[in-house]
Amino acid sequence: MNADMALKRLKQPPDKYIATASPFAAVLTCSDPRVCPDHLFRCELGDLFVVRTAGHVMTQEIEETLAFAVLNMDIHLIVVLGHEGCLAVKAAAENAYPDWNLTKLIHGTEEEHSTACKSRLCAIEPFKSMIADGKLQIHAAHLSFTDKEIQWF
Ligand SMILES: [Zn+2]
Repeated sequence: MNADMALKRLKQPPDKYIATASPFAAVLTCSDPRVCPDHLFRCELGDLFVVRTAGHVMTQEIEETLAFAVLNMDIHLIVVLGHEGCLAVKAAAENAYPDWNLTKLIHGTEEEHSTACKSRLCAIEPFKSMIADGKLQIHAAHLSFTDKEIQWF
């Protein structure tokens, strides 16, 4: 599909609009089109506050985006969702883009990277205090295309 065709397709009017949203969870996940949390978690428009980057890498801006969500919305759950066959994780492992921050922020397997992201979030504010106060949980999950399931850890 060329750019003109893609733009024409995107200019179709949306099926649904909502004026307000009450998301019940925040999800940090990969930009990979196979990993759409709204579909995977059977959610409706407005149910999830979603942050996506290639390889679900975390920068200060991503951390602050998730902090914004939990401080300003009724969100008590953050999910770090990784997936099998992540091209960003593969690129990092192969050092394909040695000058890119993106790949410098990924270490190990998809599961190891997700666990590291979860651990980092749990260790910084405001998440650390909210977890200690029982007001927030942070979980990691892994989408396996082979097993056709999402594993939680
Ligand atoms: Zn990915």
